[in-house]
Amino acid sequence: MRFDLRPVPPAVFSLVGQLAAHGHRAWIVGGCVRDALLQRPVADWDLATDAPPDALLRVFPDAIPTGLQHGTVTVVRDHTHYEITTLRGETTYSDGRRPDTVHFVDDITADLARRDFTINAIAVDPANGDVIDPHGGRRDLAARTIRAVGDARARFAEDGLRVLRAARFCATLDFDLEAATHAAIAPTLSTFAKVSAERVREEWLKAMRARRPSRAFEVMRETGMLGITCPELLEGVGMQQNKWHRFDVWTHAMACMDACVGDPVLRVAALLHDVGKPRTRAFSDKTKDWTFYDHDRVGAEIVAPICHRLKFSNDECARIEALVRHHLFHYDQWSDAAVRRWIRRVGKHRIEDLFALNEADTRGKAPSIEAEDLDPLAQLKTHVARVLAQGAALSVRDLAVGGHDLMRQFGRPPGPWLGAMLDHLLEAVTNDPTLNERDRLLQQACALDSGRDRPNSP
Ligand code: ATP
Ligand code: MG
Repeated sequence: MRFDLRPVPPAVFSLVGQLAAHGHRAWIVGGCVRDALLQRPVADWDLATDAPPDALLRVFPDAIPTGLQHGTVTVVRDHTHYEITTLRGETTYSDGRRPDTVHFVDDITADLARRDFTINAIAVDPANGDVIDPHGGRRDLAARTIRAVGDARARFAEDGLRVLRAARFCATLDFDLEAATHAAIAPTLSTFAKVSAERVREEWLKAMRARRPSRAFEVMRETGMLGITCPELLEGVGMQQNKWHRFDVWTHAMACMDACVGDPVLRVAALLHDVGKPRTRAFSDKTKDWTFYDHDRVGAEIVAPICHRLKFSNDECARIEALVRHHLFHYDQWSDAAVRRWIRRVGKHRIEDLFALNEADTRGKAPSIEAEDLDPLAQLKTHVARVLAQGAALSVRDLAVGGHDLMRQFGRPPGPWLGAMLDHLLEAVTNDPTLNERDRLLQQACALDSGRDRPNSP
């Protein structure tokens, strides 16, 4: 069977033509061949060539030397990046991360032999669509199987990233690990442990783009990878919950993450939202059931170091921590003031995230839920929209008086009293938005100042 060259962008053929004009051959190879054969969208079309790196720079003087020591350059055509890599042979790895030396070859089959999985080790001759598939990659694509090229244990022992990619592909492709490939992970975890936190985070985020990221995280759990990168999550494995939940803590986290509609970082928050449950579980003699008091607060404390450890950006850490902290709410005919207070507490910019997380949390409680289980969330959404449309003050910046007004009113320099006073006023306005007028607020401020609960004055 020939490879269907029709979806290949014209720029790829023109790059191949430029190489040919200098006497070099090139093949389409790697993830793009895999994805095209699966009829999935192709992200990047990559080429492998027998042109050595110095020749690549002569053929493409405008190339960006993205990884020249590994033989890779990037060429930009029509605003699209194309990676062109010199054929490489097998090499030794002594640090479990990078090859000690890179040696270049002129044989495509030698290059395919150093690739990680059979489905990623298929090359296509762009001249005629001939497929070079020495490791049975097409057979494994058809069987939806991830199988290491060559001896899985040896391949995983040389480069720790491969096992993580294996888990990620299980999710993104919805494939299974072949038995020997699966069995080779546990014995090579010491190599996996050397993978940088950044790479772990990147693979997590890639897995989060799958329909069911849980496929990757189940592989990570079964094989011991998760015990290295996030042991906190394992505490919930097999931990029974209460009558509201059909699943144990771990399975619920998986179901919630899969049900969560949103960007990858939001799904990381879904994965971690109940990480505080194992450490807060207690049996209630009154209800004769398990309770998890404060698991949202404890969870936020547990999740902060996890996010920093995995080198999420400060904004991402803050977002994940806030979502874990505020994920727990049960709307039940709240007053307008209660809705305003909730918005103030969680932050207006987190509302949409919390709605998505809450829906996923509900959907993740059982294999299937009743339609009315989502009613409280729908009611909260309507109520929040109404309250926001009223334009009531939600932060001290929205108050009709500012710090300068208060300093002038009381003839005092700025100090802690000022923030405390503004907070009091915001609280008063949250309860009664009609107070948010300059004169009424100044009156209220004077009453507070002379009252017994006078905020700390200088
Ligand atoms: P994606 O782009 O979706 O992450 P991909 O398979 O294209 O998947 P890349 O990182 O773009 O991944 O790598 C391109 C190709 O390089 C892979 O298809 C594979 O053949 C090879 N490769 C990548 N990483 C490794 C590795 N750690 N060990 C061996 N071969 C690898
Ligand atoms: Mg790729």
